[in-house]
Amino acid sequence: MTAESFDDGRADVPGGLAGTAERVLVVGAGIAGLTVANALAHGGVECLVLEARGRIGGRLHTVDLAGSPVDLGGSWIHMPGGGNPMHAFARLAGVPCHGADPVPEMAGFDCGAYTHIPPGAGPADADLLGEPVAGRLLFAGEHTQSARLAYADGAMTSGIREAKRLLGMPSVRLGPVSAAHLSRRCPARVRPAVGRGAWSGRFERYTGARLRAG
Ligand SMILES: Cc1cc2nc3c(=O)[nH]c(=O)nc-3n(C[C@H](O)[C@H](O)[C@H](O)COP(=O)(O)OP(=O)(O)OC[C@H]3O[C@@H](n4cnc5c(N)ncnc54)[C@H](O)[C@@H]3O)c2cc1C
Repeated sequence: MTAESFDDGRADVPGGLAGTAERVLVVGAGIAGLTVANALAHGGVECLVLEARGRIGGRLHTVDLAGSPVDLGGSWIHMPGGGNPMHAFARLAGVPCHGADPVPEMAGFDCGAYTHIPPGAGPADADLLGEPVAGRLLFAGEHTQSARLAYADGAMTSGIREAKRLLGMPSVRLGPVSAAHLSRRCPARVRPAVGRGAWSGRFERYTGARLRAG
């Protein structure tokens, strides 16, 4: 697995940053925050990740139930065509994917898991939530963009968008973080992951988190 170039579906470099990013504090180690941290590590910008829980991954969390991996959060890569970064990352990380259309057989839908735009709001409001404040406070997450609202690939896309903004580049590199990356300039520290499962393992390799755990 080697690092590859990713973009957010746009060729522009988002503006709104005051000055140059030399050191970045990422709050939250979900897919959005981890994507930012990974891109910054590859871009040579110092980054510290703060996570409130004792594991990384956020709402992407796989547990081992009697020997079987079970996703407690996201598991589907929705609409994998059209530049979906999760699909590209799964291929990069060697995660096997299988095509399926569950909609005709679905009896219920876990609505509580997803961001909903409240009555009176529209897609532009989600996009507005991705705008920087005062040139220094940036936002990423599934709810900060309207194109893939509420999905993990939207969260990842928003992380790529913010990393582009911080690095001033039209695309970023994502992939394994080596000890060399971290010791050189990027002490990307997160708490050790306690969860074990497909996603947890991928995240550890994705972020290099265990290199600095403890
Ligand atoms: C049951 C369920 C099923 C889902 N199914 C799918 C699916 O099949 N496909 C799909 O694409 N998406 C699915 N989703 C949605 C997907 O999981 C989310 O869109 C995505 O994981 C959101 O990522 P995020 O980084 O925006 O936020 P999160 O994953 O919520 O990450 C935020 C992180 O920030 C941390 N945090 C919050 N506040 C603070 C703070 N103050 N200080 C420090 N840390 C903080 C949290 O602990 C968390 O780790 C599902 C979600 C759920 C719950």
